[in-house]
Amino acid sequence: MTERLYLMDPYIKEFDANVIRCIPYKNKYAVILDKTAFYPEGGGQPSDTGYINEQNVIHVLEENKQILHIVNGEISTNKVNCRIDWNRRYDFMQQHTGQHILSLCFLQLFNGRTDSFHLSDNSVSIEIDIMDFNGDDLVLVEDMANDIIYSNLPITSKIVSEEELKQLPLRKLPSVKDNIRIVSIGHIDYDPCGGTHVMSTGEVGIIKVIRWEKLKSSYRFHFLCGKRALYDYRNKNFLQQSLCAKLSVRNHELEKAVERIIGENKDLNKELLKKNIELLKYEASEIYINCKPINGFKIIKGIYTDKKFDDIKILANEISSYKKTAVLLGVANENAQVVFSRSDDIDTDMNSLLRTFLPIIDGKGGGSPKTALGGGKAENLHFLIEEAYNSLLKSLL
Ligand SMILES: [Zn+2]
Repeated sequence: MTERLYLMDPYIKEFDANVIRCIPYKNKYAVILDKTAFYPEGGGQPSDTGYINEQNVIHVLEENKQILHIVNGEISTNKVNCRIDWNRRYDFMQQHTGQHILSLCFLQLFNGRTDSFHLSDNSVSIEIDIMDFNGDDLVLVEDMANDIIYSNLPITSKIVSEEELKQLPLRKLPSVKDNIRIVSIGHIDYDPCGGTHVMSTGEVGIIKVIRWEKLKSSYRFHFLCGKRALYDYRNKNFLQQSLCAKLSVRNHELEKAVERIIGENKDLNKELLKKNIELLKYEASEIYINCKPINGFKIIKGIYTDKKFDDIKILANEISSYKKTAVLLGVANENAQVVFSRSDDIDTDMNSLLRTFLPIIDGKGGGSPKTALGGGKAENLHFLIEEAYNSLLKSLL
Protein backbone atom coordinates (compact mmCIF):
# COMPACT_ATOMS: atom_id res chain seq x y z
CA MET A 1 0.00 0.00 0.00
CA THR A 2 1.20 3.50 -0.81
CA GLU A 3 2.71 5.39 2.12
CA ARG A 4 0.82 8.68 2.53
CA LEU A 5 3.52 11.27 3.13
CA TYR A 6 1.04 14.15 3.25
CA LEU A 7 -0.52 12.81 6.46
CA MET A 8 2.69 13.20 8.48
CA ASP A 9 4.11 16.21 6.66
CA PRO A 10 1.75 18.26 4.48
CA TYR A 11 4.62 20.63 3.57
CA ILE A 12 6.42 18.17 1.26
CA LYS A 13 6.54 19.84 -2.16
CA GLU A 14 8.92 17.47 -3.94
CA PHE A 15 9.86 13.83 -3.32
CA ASP A 16 11.37 10.77 -5.00
CA ALA A 17 9.40 7.55 -5.19
CA ASN A 18 9.36 4.13 -6.80
CA VAL A 19 6.73 3.20 -9.35
CA ILE A 20 4.84 0.08 -8.32
CA ARG A 21 2.63 0.04 -11.40
CA CYS A 22 1.71 2.22 -14.36
CA ILE A 23 -1.48 0.96 -16.00
CA PRO A 24 -3.80 2.22 -18.77
CA TYR A 25 -6.74 4.08 -17.23
CA LYS A 26 -9.63 5.61 -19.23
CA ASN A 27 -7.48 6.72 -22.21
CA LYS A 28 -4.76 7.87 -19.80
CA TYR A 29 -2.40 6.18 -17.36
CA ALA A 30 -2.70 5.58 -13.62
CA VAL A 31 0.55 5.50 -11.67
CA ILE A 32 0.77 3.76 -8.30
CA LEU A 33 3.78 4.79 -6.19
CA ASP A 34 5.35 3.24 -3.08
CA LYS A 35 4.86 6.60 -1.34
CA THR A 36 3.19 9.87 -2.22
CA ALA A 37 2.77 13.44 -1.02
CA PHE A 38 -0.04 13.99 -3.57
CA TYR A 39 -3.36 14.37 -1.79
CA PRO A 40 -6.08 12.23 -3.42
CA GLU A 41 -9.49 13.84 -3.80
CA GLY A 42 -11.64 13.39 -0.68
CA GLY A 43 -13.32 14.96 2.33
CA GLY A 44 -14.42 17.97 0.32
CA GLN A 45 -10.83 18.78 -0.75
CA PRO A 46 -9.84 18.42 -4.43
CA SER A 47 -6.81 16.35 -5.39
CA ASP A 48 -3.37 17.84 -5.90
CA THR A 49 -1.87 18.34 -9.33
CA GLY A 50 1.79 18.52 -10.34
CA TYR A 51 4.37 16.36 -12.07
CA ILE A 52 5.77 12.83 -11.96
CA ASN A 53 9.04 13.23 -13.91
CA GLU A 54 7.88 15.24 -16.93
CA GLN A 55 4.34 13.85 -16.94
CA ASN A 56 1.63 16.21 -15.80
CA VAL A 57 -0.40 14.77 -12.90
CA ILE A 58 -3.91 15.92 -13.74
CA HIS A 59 -5.84 14.13 -11.01
CA VAL A 60 -5.20 11.92 -7.98
CA LEU A 61 -7.88 9.63 -6.63
CA GLU A 62 -8.38 6.66 -4.38
CA GLU A 63 -9.82 3.46 -5.85
CA ASN A 64 -9.97 0.18 -3.92
CA LYS A 65 -7.61 1.66 -1.31
CA GLN A 66 -5.03 2.41 -4.00
CA ILE A 67 -3.90 5.97 -4.74
CA LEU A 68 -3.96 6.50 -8.50
CA HIS A 69 -1.96 9.38 -10.03
CA ILE A 70 -3.54 10.08 -13.42
CA VAL A 71 -1.08 11.12 -16.14
CA ASN A 72 -1.36 11.48 -19.92
CA GLY A 73 1.61 9.32 -20.95
CA GLU A 74 3.14 6.06 -19.78
CA ILE A 75 5.97 6.23 -17.22
CA SER A 76 8.60 3.58 -17.93
CA THR A 77 11.24 4.28 -15.25
CA ASN A 78 11.11 2.72 -11.79
CA LYS A 79 12.40 5.71 -9.87
CA VAL A 80 10.57 8.98 -10.33
CA ASN A 81 10.83 12.55 -9.14
CA CYS A 82 7.50 14.09 -8.09
CA ARG A 83 6.58 17.76 -7.65
CA ILE A 84 3.33 19.10 -6.28
CA ASP A 85 1.76 22.34 -7.55
CA TRP A 86 2.56 23.94 -4.23
CA ASN A 87 0.76 27.27 -4.56
CA ARG A 88 -2.47 25.44 -5.29
CA ARG A 89 -1.99 22.93 -2.48
CA TYR A 90 -1.04 25.60 0.08
CA ASP A 91 -4.16 27.55 -0.86
CA PHE A 92 -6.24 24.41 -0.27
CA MET A 93 -4.53 23.91 3.11
CA GLN A 94 -5.43 27.48 4.12
CA GLN A 95 -9.06 27.16 2.99
CA HIS A 96 -9.46 23.72 4.56
CA THR A 97 -7.99 24.83 7.90
CA GLY A 98 -10.21 27.92 7.72
CA GLN A 99 -13.18 25.56 7.42
CA HIS A 100 -12.18 23.78 10.66
CA ILE A 101 -12.00 27.16 12.43
CA LEU A 102 -15.28 28.40 10.99
CA SER A 103 -17.08 25.13 11.82
CA LEU A 104 -15.86 25.44 15.42
CA CYS A 105 -17.14 29.03 15.66
CA PHE A 106 -20.59 28.15 14.29
CA LEU A 107 -20.84 25.27 16.74
CA GLN A 108 -19.76 27.30 19.77
CA LEU A 109 -21.75 30.44 18.95
CA PHE A 110 -24.98 29.03 17.49
CA ASN A 111 -24.81 25.28 18.12
CA GLY A 112 -24.65 24.98 14.32
CA ARG A 113 -23.20 21.74 13.02
CA THR A 114 -21.40 21.53 9.69
CA ASP A 115 -23.40 19.40 7.25
CA SER A 116 -20.98 19.63 4.34
CA PHE A 117 -17.87 21.35 3.03
CA HIS A 118 -17.07 22.21 -0.57
CA LEU A 119 -13.68 23.37 -1.81
CA SER A 120 -12.66 23.97 -5.42
CA ASP A 121 -10.18 26.14 -7.31
CA ASN A 122 -12.59 29.06 -7.25
CA SER A 123 -15.07 28.59 -4.40
CA VAL A 124 -15.24 27.48 -0.76
CA SER A 125 -18.43 26.92 1.19
CA ILE A 126 -19.89 25.13 4.18
CA GLU A 127 -23.45 24.26 5.07
CA ILE A 128 -24.45 24.81 8.71
CA ASP A 129 -27.66 23.39 10.19
CA ILE A 130 -29.03 26.58 11.70
CA MET A 131 -32.49 28.04 11.13
CA ASP A 132 -31.67 31.78 11.30
CA PHE A 133 -28.73 33.99 10.52
CA ASN A 134 -28.23 37.73 10.14
CA GLY A 135 -25.57 40.40 9.74
CA ASP A 136 -24.99 40.71 13.52
CA ASP A 137 -24.35 36.96 13.71
CA LEU A 138 -21.84 37.32 10.89
CA VAL A 139 -19.81 39.84 12.89
CA LEU A 140 -19.67 37.43 15.85
CA VAL A 141 -18.55 34.50 13.67
CA GLU A 142 -15.92 36.44 11.76
CA ASP A 143 -14.49 38.10 14.87
CA MET A 144 -14.18 34.81 16.70
CA ALA A 145 -12.69 33.02 13.69
CA ASN A 146 -10.09 35.74 13.11
CA ASP A 147 -9.23 35.91 16.83
CA ILE A 148 -8.40 32.19 16.60
CA ILE A 149 -6.15 33.01 13.64
CA TYR A 150 -4.33 35.79 15.58
CA SER A 151 -3.84 33.42 18.54
CA ASN A 152 -1.63 31.41 16.17
CA LEU A 153 -2.57 28.08 17.74
CA PRO A 154 -0.62 24.99 16.66
CA ILE A 155 -2.41 22.50 14.41
CA THR A 156 -1.42 18.89 14.90
CA SER A 157 -2.65 15.54 13.66
CA LYS A 158 -2.44 12.11 15.21
CA ILE A 159 -3.80 8.60 14.65
CA VAL A 160 -5.56 7.77 17.91
CA SER A 161 -6.53 4.56 19.70
CA GLU A 162 -10.12 3.81 20.69
CA GLU A 163 -9.26 4.70 24.29
CA GLU A 164 -7.74 8.05 23.34
CA LEU A 165 -10.72 8.77 21.10
CA LYS A 166 -13.14 8.38 24.03
CA GLN A 167 -11.25 11.06 26.00
CA LEU A 168 -11.46 13.71 23.24
CA PRO A 169 -14.31 16.26 22.92
CA LEU A 170 -14.78 15.60 19.19
CA ARG A 171 -16.57 18.22 17.09
CA LYS A 172 -18.02 15.45 14.90
CA LEU A 173 -17.96 11.67 14.83
CA PRO A 174 -15.40 9.92 12.61
CA SER A 175 -16.62 8.50 9.30
CA VAL A 176 -14.05 5.64 9.34
CA LYS A 177 -13.49 2.92 11.93
CA ASP A 178 -9.75 2.21 11.63
CA ASN A 179 -6.75 4.51 11.79
CA ILE A 180 -8.80 7.43 12.98
CA ARG A 181 -6.81 10.62 12.51
CA ILE A 182 -7.65 13.53 14.75
CA VAL A 183 -6.70 17.06 13.70
CA SER A 184 -6.39 19.37 16.70
CA ILE A 185 -6.37 23.15 16.85
CA GLY A 186 -4.55 23.96 20.11
CA HIS A 187 -6.80 22.58 22.82
CA ILE A 188 -9.99 24.05 21.42
CA ASP A 189 -10.94 21.78 18.51
CA TYR A 190 -10.63 18.07 17.80
CA ASP A 191 -11.90 16.85 14.47
CA PRO A 192 -11.50 13.52 12.67
CA CYS A 193 -10.08 14.43 9.25
CA GLY A 194 -7.80 12.96 6.60
CA GLY A 195 -7.08 16.24 4.78
CA THR A 196 -4.11 18.57 4.66
CA HIS A 197 -3.86 21.56 7.01
CA VAL A 198 -1.42 24.36 7.78
CA MET A 199 0.81 24.11 10.87
CA SER A 200 -0.66 26.99 12.84
CA THR A 201 -3.86 29.01 12.67
CA GLY A 202 -1.87 32.16 11.84
CA GLU A 203 -1.08 30.73 8.40
CA VAL A 204 -4.78 30.91 7.46
CA GLY A 205 -4.20 34.69 7.30
CA ILE A 206 -7.81 35.81 7.38
CA ILE A 207 -11.31 34.35 7.18
CA LYS A 208 -13.97 36.41 5.44
CA VAL A 209 -17.52 35.26 4.72
CA ILE A 210 -18.44 36.88 1.41
CA ARG A 211 -22.08 35.82 1.14
CA TRP A 212 -24.60 33.33 2.45
CA GLU A 213 -27.85 31.78 1.31
CA LYS A 214 -30.72 30.11 3.12
CA LEU A 215 -31.41 26.49 2.23
CA LYS A 216 -34.35 24.36 3.42
CA SER A 217 -33.14 23.72 6.95
CA SER A 218 -29.63 25.14 6.88
CA TYR A 219 -27.47 27.98 5.60
CA ARG A 220 -24.67 27.87 3.07
CA PHE A 221 -21.74 30.19 3.72
CA HIS A 222 -19.23 31.15 1.03
CA PHE A 223 -15.94 32.28 2.53
CA LEU A 224 -12.36 33.07 1.63
CA CYS A 225 -9.08 32.53 3.45
CA GLY A 226 -5.47 33.62 2.87
CA LYS A 227 -4.64 35.08 -0.54
CA ARG A 228 -8.12 34.37 -1.90
CA ALA A 229 -9.38 36.93 0.63
CA LEU A 230 -6.56 39.34 -0.27
CA TYR A 231 -7.31 39.07 -4.02
CA ASP A 232 -11.02 39.53 -3.37
CA TYR A 233 -10.32 42.63 -1.24
CA ARG A 234 -7.93 43.96 -3.88
CA ASN A 235 -10.52 43.55 -6.65
CA LYS A 236 -13.29 45.09 -4.58
CA ASN A 237 -11.02 47.98 -3.62
CA PHE A 238 -10.10 48.58 -7.28
CA LEU A 239 -13.80 48.53 -8.13
CA GLN A 240 -14.65 50.97 -5.36
CA GLN A 241 -11.82 53.34 -6.38
CA SER A 242 -12.91 53.16 -10.00
CA LEU A 243 -16.56 53.89 -9.12
CA CYS A 244 -15.54 56.77 -6.82
CA ALA A 245 -13.39 58.28 -9.58
CA LYS A 246 -16.21 57.96 -12.14
CA LEU A 247 -18.68 59.64 -9.79
CA SER A 248 -16.15 62.11 -8.31
CA VAL A 249 -16.99 61.15 -4.74
CA ARG A 250 -15.10 59.78 -1.74
CA ASN A 251 -15.50 56.19 -0.44
CA HIS A 252 -18.02 57.12 2.24
CA GLU A 253 -20.10 59.12 -0.27
CA LEU A 254 -20.37 56.32 -2.81
CA GLU A 255 -23.59 54.69 -1.60
CA LYS A 256 -25.43 58.02 -1.45
CA ALA A 257 -24.15 58.93 -4.91
CA VAL A 258 -25.47 55.66 -6.36
CA GLU A 259 -28.84 56.16 -4.65
CA ARG A 260 -29.00 59.69 -6.09
CA ILE A 261 -28.25 58.40 -9.62
CA ILE A 262 -30.90 55.66 -9.31
CA GLY A 263 -33.42 58.32 -8.17
CA GLU A 264 -32.51 60.67 -11.00
CA ASN A 265 -32.71 57.83 -13.49
CA LYS A 266 -36.22 56.95 -12.30
CA ASP A 267 -37.35 60.59 -12.65
CA LEU A 268 -35.78 60.86 -16.11
CA ASN A 269 -37.49 57.67 -17.24
CA LYS A 270 -40.84 58.98 -16.03
CA GLU A 271 -40.24 62.27 -17.84
CA LEU A 272 -39.14 60.43 -20.98
CA LEU A 273 -42.25 58.27 -20.93
CA LYS A 274 -44.42 61.38 -20.59
CA LYS A 275 -42.65 63.16 -23.46
CA ASN A 276 -42.83 60.02 -25.62
CA ILE A 277 -46.61 59.82 -25.16
CA GLU A 278 -46.93 63.53 -26.00
CA LEU A 279 -44.86 62.96 -29.13
CA LEU A 280 -46.96 59.93 -30.16
CA LYS A 281 -50.17 61.96 -29.64
CA TYR A 282 -48.76 64.68 -31.89
CA GLU A 283 -47.69 62.08 -34.47
CA ALA A 284 -51.19 60.53 -34.32
CA SER A 285 -52.82 63.89 -35.02
CA GLU A 286 -50.45 64.51 -37.96
CA ILE A 287 -51.20 61.08 -39.43
CA TYR A 288 -54.93 61.63 -38.99
CA ILE A 289 -54.86 65.08 -40.60
CA ASN A 290 -52.82 63.89 -43.59
CA CYS A 291 -54.99 60.84 -44.28
CA LYS A 292 -57.53 61.36 -47.05
CA PRO A 293 -61.02 60.09 -46.15
CA ILE A 294 -62.77 57.48 -48.27
CA ASN A 295 -66.52 57.56 -48.09
CA GLY A 296 -66.21 59.57 -44.88
CA PHE A 297 -63.86 57.05 -43.22
CA LYS A 298 -60.14 57.34 -42.62
CA ILE A 299 -58.20 54.06 -42.80
CA ILE A 300 -54.56 54.35 -41.77
CA LYS A 301 -52.13 51.57 -42.60
CA GLY A 302 -48.39 51.34 -42.16
CA ILE A 303 -45.37 49.21 -41.32
CA TYR A 304 -42.61 50.52 -39.04
CA THR A 305 -39.09 49.21 -38.65
CA ASP A 306 -37.77 51.91 -36.33
CA LYS A 307 -40.36 51.88 -33.56
CA LYS A 308 -41.12 49.69 -30.55
CA PHE A 309 -44.39 47.77 -30.66
CA ASP A 310 -45.44 49.42 -27.36
CA ASP A 311 -45.20 52.81 -29.11
CA ILE A 312 -47.18 51.51 -32.10
CA LYS A 313 -49.95 50.33 -29.77
CA ILE A 314 -50.13 53.83 -28.22
CA LEU A 315 -50.12 55.37 -31.72
CA ALA A 316 -52.96 53.08 -32.90
CA ASN A 317 -54.95 53.85 -29.79
CA GLU A 318 -54.50 57.61 -30.26
CA ILE A 319 -55.40 57.54 -33.97
CA SER A 320 -58.52 55.43 -33.38
CA SER A 321 -59.74 57.93 -30.79
CA TYR A 322 -60.70 60.15 -33.76
CA LYS A 323 -64.17 59.54 -35.19
CA LYS A 324 -64.75 57.23 -38.19
CA THR A 325 -61.15 56.01 -38.14
CA ALA A 326 -59.50 52.60 -38.35
CA VAL A 327 -55.79 51.72 -38.10
CA LEU A 328 -53.84 48.72 -39.33
CA LEU A 329 -50.24 49.05 -38.12
CA GLY A 330 -47.34 46.63 -38.02
CA VAL A 331 -43.76 46.47 -36.77
CA ALA A 332 -41.28 44.41 -38.79
CA ASN A 333 -38.07 43.45 -37.05
CA GLU A 334 -36.90 39.86 -36.62
CA ASN A 335 -40.58 39.00 -36.30
CA ALA A 336 -43.76 40.88 -37.12
CA GLN A 337 -46.22 42.38 -34.66
CA VAL A 338 -49.52 43.98 -35.65
CA VAL A 339 -52.25 46.05 -34.07
CA PHE A 340 -55.71 46.62 -35.61
CA SER A 341 -57.90 49.23 -33.97
CA ARG A 342 -60.96 51.33 -34.81
CA SER A 343 -63.11 54.11 -33.44
CA ASP A 344 -66.34 53.28 -31.61
CA ASP A 345 -68.53 54.47 -34.49
CA ILE A 346 -67.32 51.71 -36.86
CA ASP A 347 -68.95 48.27 -36.69
CA THR A 348 -66.20 46.09 -38.18
CA ASP A 349 -64.92 43.40 -35.79
CA MET A 350 -61.16 43.99 -35.74
CA ASN A 351 -60.58 40.70 -33.92
CA SER A 352 -62.13 38.61 -36.68
CA LEU A 353 -60.51 40.81 -39.36
CA LEU A 354 -57.08 40.12 -37.83
CA ARG A 355 -57.72 36.41 -37.33
CA THR A 356 -58.87 36.06 -40.97
CA PHE A 357 -55.52 37.28 -42.29
CA LEU A 358 -53.07 36.15 -39.57
CA PRO A 359 -52.31 32.86 -41.44
CA ILE A 360 -50.50 35.02 -44.06
CA ILE A 361 -47.70 35.55 -41.53
CA ASP A 362 -48.13 32.17 -39.73
CA GLY A 363 -49.28 34.28 -36.85
CA LYS A 364 -51.21 34.09 -33.62
CA GLY A 365 -53.22 36.71 -31.82
CA GLY A 366 -56.59 38.11 -30.90
CA GLY A 367 -58.39 40.78 -28.95
CA SER A 368 -61.70 42.63 -28.82
CA PRO A 369 -63.96 43.83 -31.68
CA LYS A 370 -62.36 47.28 -31.17
CA THR A 371 -58.65 46.38 -30.84
CA ALA A 372 -56.72 43.20 -31.71
CA LEU A 373 -53.02 42.34 -31.49
CA GLY A 374 -51.01 39.63 -33.21
CA GLY A 375 -47.57 38.41 -34.14
CA GLY A 376 -45.88 36.16 -36.68
CA LYS A 377 -43.19 36.02 -39.36
CA ALA A 378 -41.97 39.31 -40.78
CA GLU A 379 -41.57 38.50 -44.47
CA ASN A 380 -45.27 38.63 -45.52
CA LEU A 381 -46.37 41.39 -43.18
CA HIS A 382 -47.12 43.85 -46.03
CA PHE A 383 -49.46 41.27 -47.67
CA LEU A 384 -51.35 40.89 -44.42
CA ILE A 385 -51.78 44.67 -44.06
CA GLU A 386 -52.86 45.04 -47.74
CA GLU A 387 -55.36 42.16 -47.60
CA ALA A 388 -56.84 43.40 -44.33
CA TYR A 389 -56.99 46.96 -45.72
CA ASN A 390 -58.90 45.84 -48.86
CA SER A 391 -61.31 43.76 -46.81
CA LEU A 392 -61.91 46.60 -44.32
CA LEU A 393 -62.40 49.06 -47.16
CA LYS A 394 -65.08 46.82 -48.75
CA SER A 395 -66.93 46.57 -45.44
CA LEU A 396 -66.99 50.35 -45.09
CA LEU A 397 -68.15 51.22 -48.60
ZN1 LIG B 1 -9.49 18.79 7.84
